[in-house]
Amino acid sequence: MAKLIPVPDDLSKPFWDAINEKRLVVQNCTGCNTMQYPPRAACQHCGSDKFEWKETSGKGHILSFFVTYDGRYQRRIPDQPYNVAIVTLDEDPGINFYANLGGQPPRQVPVGAAVEVVFEEVAPGQLIHDWKVVS
Ligand SMILES: [Zn+2]
Repeated sequence: MAKLIPVPDDLSKPFWDAINEKRLVVQNCTGCNTMQYPPRAACQHCGSDKFEWKETSGKGHILSFFVTYDGRYQRRIPDQPYNVAIVTLDEDPGINFYANLGGQPPRQVPVGAAVEVVFEEVAPGQLIHDWKVVS
């Protein structure tokens, strides 16, 4: 399945650098100790702009999903239909990730199931994260 290739910017570079080391990190506000993803310039909870990068367990659960039949990402069109699941992070259910659940047939998504992060190389030296159902 063709995946989108990330283009890190100043804000997201630490995240993608960690992904390339097979670590899943999120921003953690040092003002109010709240985790935040995706990376933003300010904390959505208290407005602070002071963050540390916190490594997560890479474990979560499937909250919900939809199936893309008619998406607009050119690289992804040959893969349609494909799953887009919403994963909540076990450390903080307020942190959500999109997941394609590689290997999971379209529409057959076990909502509530445990998942763990996996990494896939999408360009030389560039990994991305996805999630797989833990069985
Ligand atoms: Zn905060």
